[in-house]
Order: sequence, then C-alpha cells, then structure tokens
Amino acid sequence: MQGALAATASAAGRPPPCLLAVSKLQPARAIAELATGGQQAFGENYVQEARAKQAALNDPTLQWHLIGHLQSNKAREAAQTFDWIQSVDRPALVEALGRHRPTSVTRLNVLIQVNIDDEPGKHGAMPEHVAALAGAVAAEGRLRLRGLMAIPTPANAAKRRAAFAAMRQLFDGLAARFDGMDTLSMGMSEDYAMAIEQGATMVRIGSALFGPRPTQVTAHTDIRPVP
Ligand SMILES: *Cc1c(COP(=O)(O)O)cnc(C)c1O
Repeated sequence: MQGALAATASAAGRPPPCLLAVSKLQPARAIAELATGGQQAFGENYVQEARAKQAALNDPTLQWHLIGHLQSNKAREAAQTFDWIQSVDRPALVEALGRHRPTSVTRLNVLIQVNIDDEPGKHGAMPEHVAALAGAVAAEGRLRLRGLMAIPTPANAAKRRAAFAAMRQLFDGLAARFDGMDTLSMGMSEDYAMAIEQGATMVRIGSALFGPRPTQVTAHTDIRPVP
C-alpha cells in the first residue's frame, strides 16, 4: 500500500502522504499483523471499540485516530483515549475536548471535519465556519490544531475532484494563518489516488488494506493469529 501511495504522489509531483489504516470493525489481530509490518497509525469510528483494541494490543507505539462522528457526551472518554480526533466540527466539542484532555499526556491533535459538499445534515463544519473553529482549537491549551479532514461524497468524479481541490485551497489559506497546520486528511480506498493528486497529506484506507470489513465487531480483543 505504501508503495502505491508513494507512486501516485510522485507521479502527481506531491510528497508521499501518511497512511491511516482504518481498522473499524476489524479484529485486534488484524491490527497486530499490520503493526508488525511497521504500520503505526490506526483509525477507529467508535470510542468503546478503540478502547477494547488498545487494551488487547497494549502497544504504546501505536497512534489512535478517531475518524467517526463524536457525540458531546463521549468527548471526555474520547479525549482520554485517542491521540488524534479528526471529526471536530463544532465549538462545544472543542471546549469539551480541551477541558477533558489529561495533563499527564501530550496535547490532543485535532483536525476539523469540513462539510465540503455543503450538504445539509452531513457531519462537518460548513466551510465558512472553519476559520473561527480553527481559532477556537488554537486557543485551547490542551489541543493542537493540525489541519482539516473531509469525506466528500459527490455523485461523480468531476465533482469529487472539485471537492478535494476546494479542501486543499481551504487548507492552504488556514495554514498561512495558523501555526502547525500540516495535515489534510482526505481520500479512502475508492478515491485515494484522486485525493493525493489534489494535495491530501493523509489518506484513510480501510478495505483496500484489510480486505472487506466484517459487518459486526467480533473478537476484537483476541490478538492471537488465526490457527
Ligand atoms: C470507514 C472510513 C474510511 C475507510 O473506508 P474504506 O472505504 O474502507 O477505505 C475512511 N474514513 C472514514 C471517515 C471512514 O468512516
């Protein structure tokens, strides 16, 4: 996978992106296998599922990213569980994460999720609200503003490319105003090549890496290889 990402980036004249391995619904042993091969960053959609896997794997070198929607009543647990939260999309969440990030660990890395398709009802901050939200993250002592995330879902390739390009433009504008913005997270198994061409610095890949996702969580916590 890393080779394919690097080749795509090189052909587009871009630096190779970071690979986030999206391990939601995958058993802990699948994570252990990739970790043995050197993969360190894993993405999960649910707080409880991530905690169960962390406990099973007990590997402090792994880095955990929350990429699913975060409800405010889970903010405290999320702030204690993850290294990165990619789905920050409203001021109340910024405040809650800042308040609950333990002082005993490093600052919580934050990406602002953007509703770049402008679809009502979709998660993510509207583009016109992103700058104010970035300012709020930057002002929280326990949070570290790292960039933006999006899950564009337009109907066709041309619109999707335009959405990725709009994300890159938004990112570049904010990176000029805020220190430490180094991450633009966009692109999944189906569209990572297009995202890299448009300037993604991190791609989130699940099924192309692990194979098809199980439909429900099974045996998260058993990390023994399949006999
Ligand atoms: C599930 C998920 C992915 C990975 O999807 P694949 O199509 O399996 O690569 C990436 N990002 C988010 C936010 C997801 O929920």
